[in-house]
Amino acid sequence: MQIAIASGKGGTGKTTIATNLAYFWQKQMKKKIVLLDCDVEEPNCHLFLKPTWHSSQKATAKIPSINLEQCTYCGKCSDLCQFGAISCLKDNVLVFPELCHSCGGCTLVCPTKAIIEVEKELGEIKIGAQDNLQIIHGYLKIGEPMSPPLIRKVKEQATQEDLIIVDCPPGTSCPVIEALKGSDFVLLITEPTPFGLHDLKLAVEVVRDLKIPFAVGINRSTLGNSALKDYCARENIPIILEIPHERNIAIAYSEGELLLKKFPQYEKNFAPLWSYIQEVISSCKN
Ligand code: SF4
Ligand code: SF4
Repeated sequence: MQIAIASGKGGTGKTTIATNLAYFWQKQMKKKIVLLDCDVEEPNCHLFLKPTWHSSQKATAKIPSINLEQCTYCGKCSDLCQFGAISCLKDNVLVFPELCHSCGGCTLVCPTKAIIEVEKELGEIKIGAQDNLQIIHGYLKIGEPMSPPLIRKVKEQATQEDLIIVDCPPGTSCPVIEALKGSDFVLLITEPTPFGLHDLKLAVEVVRDLKIPFAVGINRSTLGNSALKDYCARENIPIILEIPHERNIAIAYSEGELLLKKFPQYEKNFAPLWSYIQEVISSCKN
């Protein structure tokens, strides 16, 4: 089962919810939970969960390299590439690694086998644990413009048997789509501010397009007016989690402390989530 925690914008408390949910479920269920930190431009789940790291590896992707001696400049590779990552000229073939999605199509289509695949470094993947909770994060190499290939690699580290929680990157663009792929349920985290509502609407469009069941969690829920809740009611979007706007929560967060470790009284806010999500997922499968 894969459950994604996403938000239309940064700073809504998505990582707070993802880390506390992972901590709470592994404590309650006594089963292995895997938290994938797919916010690879700035992974920060580890700051709150403080895992013991036990492995680290370079993540790479294959990109084409052209042997011009074998190339006939037929243009089949550039015709095929949907991303403009390879361009056939009259007497040269140019590769733009920063645009390449490593699909391997150009290598397959080349009639003279002039293309070989070489490794390009994407970043680093680290694996660590805290009790029954495994934490896997990707850290995008500085200067690397595309995060989806690294997000894919991070997700490959988990197995089907695991209960997987994905901390998605913020926003609604390609990295989020990549992180959401394969999810059985999405919890959209927002806050009751005009920006929070605006970005929630965009995120709702994305998960509806992807046809993934979802619900909303509101962080700092005692702030603002009722516009967010009114929107959810109009759109029939369930609100399954609320975390109040409290000074002590903000202080714990700023000090890198896990909310539920410091204030176990908030466990009641997270307690109903598991049975709700399970029910929704099984009703979608039937
Ligand atoms: S498909 Fe192969 S032979 Fe044709 S232009 Fe590309 S690299 Fe050269
Ligand atoms: S591997 Fe795919 S994305 Fe990259 S250049 Fe070849 S066809 Fe384009």
